This record gives sequence, C-alpha cells and structure tokens, in this order.
Amino acid sequence: MSGSDTARAADRMPHHRLRVLRGGDDAGPDVPAVERAVSELLLALGKDPGSDHLVETPRRVAQSYLELLTPPQFDLTTFPNDEAYDELVLAKQLPVQSLCEHHLLPFHGIAHIGYLPGNRILGLSKLARVLELFARDLQVQERLTKQVADWLQEHLAPRGVGVVIEAEHLCMSLRGVRATGARTVTSALHGLLRDDARSRQEFFALTGSGS
Ligand code: ZN
Repeated sequence: MSGSDTARAADRMPHHRLRVLRGGDDAGPDVPAVERAVSELLLALGKDPGSDHLVETPRRVAQSYLELLTPPQFDLTTFPNDEAYDELVLAKQLPVQSLCEHHLLPFHGIAHIGYLPGNRILGLSKLARVLELFARDLQVQERLTKQVADWLQEHLAPRGVGVVIEAEHLCMSLRGVRATGARTVTSALHGLLRDDARSRQEFFALTGSGS
C-alpha cells in the first residue's frame, strides 16, 4: 500500500495511528567498531588514546554518534478534518539539529513546517517528529528539507505543504570561511504552496523567510 493509499484509507477512520520508522537503508551504528575507530583516529591525530584524559573518549564519542544518528520511533496520529479547516497550519521555530555528511560536524537552527489540510489533520507535535525522523542522520540541509516535505505530502496528502529550514553549519563557522553566525536557508514546497502565488506568499510571510 503506498503512502497516499494509506492516507485515503485513513480518511474514513475517526482517528488513525501509523507506527513510523525510517526506511532500512542502513543497519545503524556498530558501537564497538565506532569506539575502535575513534581510538584509531586519536592515534592518527597524534594523541594517546590510553592517556587518563582520553581513555573514556571513544566510548563517549560512540554514544554521541549513536544519539545523533538514531531517530526516535513515533506514532503518526491523524484526525479527520471535521471542521473543514482550509487555512494554513504552521509550526514555527522548531529546533533542528543534524550532522553534515561532508564533515561529520553538526548543523543546527530552526525549521518552519506548514500545510494546507485536506481530509486529515495531524497531531501538532508530529511535525517536529517528522523533522527529527530525517534530521537524525548524516545529511545535507537541502535533502533534509525535501525529505520532510515529501514525507508529509505522501503520508498526509494535504492540499499543500511547505518546509523552511534556517541553519548554521559548524563546518562553515568553525573552519573554512569561518562565517560565524551565517545561516543557510532552504525551502521545499508542494501542492498549492508551490503552485498558488497567494498561498506561497502567505506561507513565506508567516514564516518570516521572504519569498
Ligand atoms: Zn559540512
């Protein structure tokens, strides 16, 4: 059953729950192997992984990556749009943190996620969950933005969806050009938020992102 079939079948249900897991494209971290690799990295950097200061570091680093790369499971709860609410639903300033796949350094900032409801509406906290589902991975900001928008389009079948992410990349602010505080803004739009100028304008005005 495709996501949109699921959404259509769910239209008839008063209250619908879907257990959400990220697709199994990777097996997840092998923690002991990560610890060994961090020891090797310390050695290669000219540090002594056996020293008192560093002896616990491989374990801590492995746990950090495990946490940063493991999205929590959640139940996607949707409800029938009984009031036929047809204006924008917008969650603003959702915190987002992820790992840049080019440098394994964090990027972090805020996301705005909005949709124009169709037959179903979503539990509000679920927008933040969908964001986490894809943020806890090795990412580039452009792909993260698009994955969240695509996922909502497929599973909620709204009349439109928009995602804006504004993030600071540590690989850009701590090294390289050292552009401290510089924020990268990305957006992904579907449906009416992409095709209808008035809806798009309203979305960008409410997110304060400019169009
Ligand atoms: Zn980077």
